Amino acid sequence: MNEPVDVLIIGAGASGAAVAWSLAETRMRILCLEQGGWVQSTDYPSNGRDWESRQMTDFHYNPNIRRRPADYPINEDASPIKVANFNGVGGGTILYAGHFPRLHPSDFRVRTLDGVADDWPIGYSTLESYYAENDRMMGVASLAGDPAYPPKPSVMPPIPLGKTGQVLGRALNDLGWHWWPSDSAITTRDYEGRAKCINLGHCIAGCAQGAKASTDITYWPEALRARVELRTGCRVREVSVNAQGMASGVTYYDSDGIERFQPAEVVILACNGIGTPRILLNSKSALFPDGLANSSGLVGKNLMFHPYATVQAYFDEELDGYRGPHIAIWSQEFYETDSSRGFVRGYTFQCNRGTGPVMNAIGGMRTGRIPWGEGHHAACRRLFDRMSSTAVICEDLPEECNRVTLDPVLTDSSGIPAPRIEYRIGENTQRMAEHAVARATEMYVAAGAYDVHAEFPMRYAGWHLMGTARMGLDPARSVVNEWGRSHDVKNLFIVDGSVFVTSGGVNPTSTIQAIALYVADNIKNRLSNLFD
Ligand SMILES: Cc1cc2nc3c(=O)[nH]c(=O)nc-3n(C[C@H](O)[C@H](O)[C@H](O)COP(=O)(O)OP(=O)(O)OC[C@H]3O[C@@H](n4cnc5c(N)ncnc54)[C@H](O)[C@@H]3O)c2cc1C
Ligand code: SF4
Repeated sequence: MNEPVDVLIIGAGASGAAVAWSLAETRMRILCLEQGGWVQSTDYPSNGRDWESRQMTDFHYNPNIRRRPADYPINEDASPIKVANFNGVGGGTILYAGHFPRLHPSDFRVRTLDGVADDWPIGYSTLESYYAENDRMMGVASLAGDPAYPPKPSVMPPIPLGKTGQVLGRALNDLGWHWWPSDSAITTRDYEGRAKCINLGHCIAGCAQGAKASTDITYWPEALRARVELRTGCRVREVSVNAQGMASGVTYYDSDGIERFQPAEVVILACNGIGTPRILLNSKSALFPDGLANSSGLVGKNLMFHPYATVQAYFDEELDGYRGPHIAIWSQEFYETDSSRGFVRGYTFQCNRGTGPVMNAIGGMRTGRIPWGEGHHAACRRLFDRMSSTAVICEDLPEECNRVTLDPVLTDSSGIPAPRIEYRIGENTQRMAEHAVARATEMYVAAGAYDVHAEFPMRYAGWHLMGTARMGLDPARSVVNEWGRSHDVKNLFIVDGSVFVTSGGVNPTSTIQAIALYVADNIKNRLSNLFD
């Protein structure tokens, strides 16, 4: 048996890193177990000319295609949207685009405002100072004054608009719709030992420059200096409980595949909206026969993905191509509920730059715009650098039928049952997506594009994983309380996207990390009576 620790964190991604850093000042003995390893910046596809083909193999977003040793398989046959993640130090932030919006104040009150889903037990004001602290730790580039939000400080100047941002910004001005430079976890000046973005434009293949804020280069170096221990290659199978129903530690397989038990006073799960319910459901005992922390029956239920629509358009003029961070600007014109639209809540437009040469060719050939043989090169040249796409992030409402369970047959390489996803797109979201595609098409027409086409839902776009261990005041309708502690097991906490009550219509990582910092502060403030 290993030496006991005070705090045991499972998962070294966006939230695990933030909670580890924040708790480090207590000088408790803190250990984090992570199933993956460190990714060296020299390993990123962006170092080589084959960066696009490696995004289709060993750096694919989907673990079932990527199949690295650290990945676990996911049965997603019953879902039109496929999961995107990364398993390693940094978690999903290794591959993410660094788009860094916050939830709106209204997102925490959708039951009150719109009569759907549930209100969160906390509000925007609860998280405001944690959002700001996280922005400083990650190094977020933004322009203060966005009218879609309450006032918020800027850490450094925003990423450049580029030609794409200018062309679409002008179109949005003509339409009278909101737009703003994208808040991005990408440094626009040298910051805390990180070099600034040089607009190479390979963010989703990992940033070898170190400008994109993945937590292996933001929170982790500081947490390790403060003596947090991070053990990689350690895959957790289950959380154990003692006779009093308190978590006593976890069973895991170390990097040699040897089964070990790690005792701990406090256990914190940070394995994301799929990995966390997977561990809880696999932690069955006489006291918790339906899985740990599951007296509500809600562990794994209410999975929210954010179904994405994508609208692509070609221009006669040259835009930025793939150079520069993915997202240039956003529009939140249609974010808040307007009942005349036939749906509640809303969406964000993420206005993106174009794709690299390989994706230009493959996309052009798939849609018949680029022929094979004669005329191939001329068509490639005509389309390359002249494309923009807008990704629409639709708010996903929680539904219990959308869920994570354990697959009865499929296991990972350690023999741990794999998660199985059942997911369908709700009617409200379907109507929202139709509205969004029509509005994005209007924007591209106003911008002078000549060939506009849409796809919904984007298949490999299950990158936002939320809702499967929701937060709430009522133990019968939620898994954790208003500060992230399990209602059933008083020394068990959850800090990842599982705790979201609703999804909002924006990327979740800044909120996930703000929640992790908020939960850590609650733990620190209550240390003397944490389990009362
Ligand atoms: C291609 C892509 C693009 C994205 N773009 C954006 C974006 O622009 N903006 C945005 O806000 N979000 C984006 N995201 C989503 C973002 O990455 C996630 O929201 C964020 O990383 C989630 O943080 P987390 O802490 O909940 O989990 P993760 O970061 O996923 O970390 C979970 C960690 O737990 C580990 N783990 C899981 N199970 C176990 C186990 N049994 N034992 C040990 N370790 C375990 C995993 O290996 C992983 O490292 C993107 C994601 C992808 C894949
Ligand atoms: S565009 Fe900037 S942030 Fe993105 S990969 Fe290149 S240097 Fe890194």
